[in-house]
Amino acid sequence: MTDVGTTPRKSMGRMRRLRIFEAHGGVCCLCRNKIDGVREKWTVEHLRALGLGGEDSDDNCAPAHEACRRQKDKVDVAAISKAKRVKAKHLGIAKAKSSLSHPKLKRCLDGSVVHRETGEVVGYGKD
Ligand SMILES: [Zn+2]
Repeated sequence: MTDVGTTPRKSMGRMRRLRIFEAHGGVCCLCRNKIDGVREKWTVEHLRALGLGGEDSDDNCAPAHEACRRQKDKVDVAAISKAKRVKAKHLGIAKAKSSLSHPKLKRCLDGSVVHRETGEVVGYGKD
């Protein structure tokens, strides 16, 4: 699968995890409940998903229950694939502007159709 502009992910060290946990008072960013850092599994969540253009900075990170994150990931994956689809479609439109289906032919401003490699005029006409 080709990736359409996803922010590269930095490594998440133990100190960074702790810093992010502290910065949010140990509150899960998804369910807003306190995380018991000892008994509950938790992870660092990106407030704005990297795949949606979010930054991999501490500001964009918050702790979340492992279970909550798993739930959210499902939604994110759908949103990201939709964003990529829209982007790809956009690029597709730009590419499809040429009315000529043959890749080796191009249309000149005067309406003549020439072969890209030979420069030979192969025809005239609107479409
Ligand atoms: Zn939670």
